[in-house]
Amino acid sequence: MATPAVVMKFGGTSVEDAAAMRRLADIVADRASEHPVVVVSAMAKVTDQLAELAAAALAANREAAAELLGALQARHREALAGLGGDADTGAALEHLFAELGDLVRGIAAVGELTGRTRDAVMSFGERLSPLLVRVALRRAGLRPQLLDARQVIVTDEQFTHALPLYAESQRQVDERVTPALADGAVPLLGGFLAGTRQGVGTTLGRGGSDFSAAILGALLGAQRIEIWTDVDGMLTADPRLCAGARRIKAISFQEAAELAYFGAKVLHPSTLLPAMHSGVPVWVLNSRAWLPGPPDGARTGTRIATRAPKTTAPFKCISCKRRIVVVEVISTRMLQAHGFLKAIWDVFAEHRCPVDMVSTSEVSVSLTIADPSALPDIADALGKFADVRCAGRQAILCLVGENLRDTPGLAGQVFAALGELNVRMISQGASEINIGLVVDDDDVPEAMQRLHARFFSELDPAVFA
Ligand code: ADP
Ligand code: ASP
Ligand code: MG
Repeated sequence: MATPAVVMKFGGTSVEDAAAMRRLADIVADRASEHPVVVVSAMAKVTDQLAELAAAALAANREAAAELLGALQARHREALAGLGGDADTGAALEHLFAELGDLVRGIAAVGELTGRTRDAVMSFGERLSPLLVRVALRRAGLRPQLLDARQVIVTDEQFTHALPLYAESQRQVDERVTPALADGAVPLLGGFLAGTRQGVGTTLGRGGSDFSAAILGALLGAQRIEIWTDVDGMLTADPRLCAGARRIKAISFQEAAELAYFGAKVLHPSTLLPAMHSGVPVWVLNSRAWLPGPPDGARTGTRIATRAPKTTAPFKCISCKRRIVVVEVISTRMLQAHGFLKAIWDVFAEHRCPVDMVSTSEVSVSLTIADPSALPDIADALGKFADVRCAGRQAILCLVGENLRDTPGLAGQVFAALGELNVRMISQGASEINIGLVVDDDDVPEAMQRLHARFFSELDPAVFA
């Protein structure tokens, strides 16, 4: 196989029904000569419904569970019928639904839902959808080869947010994916799913199919990774919050990674790490508005690569991470300043709780966390040497751009644009490519509008569409 592969990931909306799957097959057929590897998400909303199903099972709410299960079954059957039907696939779907039914009854009977069992329930979306996509690819004249992602991507045992073990995964990719490609088949895998060394199923965290594609792209030394979704690319802001958001034609790995980490849902936060390390460019593309031929930022999509073209705009994009908690830790002067910081970090590390933003003063440290599940324990532990106050319903706004390094006075312009809106914390990242602000979650739409209007009304056509 002379040319490196192209890894193509299709998100939930790009496989939401039979019509979307047929469109997917047309897009993959267009890449047939480029050795495509296809990674698919669960059909849109299915993973949310599986989470509801797990909750209903845990509450032994059999009626709700049966209803959810029935709806999922009907949706997949309908999609298969829309693709023209296929007896073997129909049987495979029913087999999986029987397995899911057993699992749900088991959870209800035991009244317990461990991370491992939750992952087992959540896995069904990405085990079902590839069965349907295989039918669509065959109908488009391609030769898909379905692979079990749980055997290809090897992770640690952190169920619900497992981390890849690259050396082990490389061996599996060499053994399972590369030969399929060499054989002229189109390897097809469910995203989001992986497995431990012992073969127990794990997941890569919500939205993790992007990460699956990037891991595969890196391990295959792909020529590019394509993330097909429901928007035209990475936009200057979430279009759900800013009607005037514009497409970014090209952006650097660093900038895009910062945005993904600080809430740009279009990419799972870990997606860019493997791509960046292996230097494989990532494209974000709209499956509902695709054009034949290789991606071309002038017409469609966003190219994410090591270097992005220079622009005069200070920022490329604003993202927001909503419903976070600000924890304020106030020294009771029992510890020296340096001991105080270390003691705080130790508490968060012990509880494996990532901290996103920090600002410090002489006597207090404010920090933000996205997942408050360990907060009661953390507050107890901190309470032994400090006073602790928590504020919920907060949000981080993140303005990103490499030019920030060379543009003095930007923070002042940001504050001026926000006017009377209250800013609780501010930080300029050590990477010097982002300014982070914490505001009340209720103020997010207004703050986004104001910042977007201030910094993105006149844009450089070399970088923005
Ligand atoms: P998929 O199911 O294809 O993975 P997601 O819903 O996970 O799609 O991600 C796409 C969504 O991300 C878009 O519909 C958009 O609302 C949201 N989004 C948030 N920030 C951005 C941004 N800066 N650019 C583009 N999309 C964004
Ligand atoms: N289906 C999973 C989710 O909704 C993974 C993904 O779509 O990327 O979280
Ligand atoms: Mg996604």
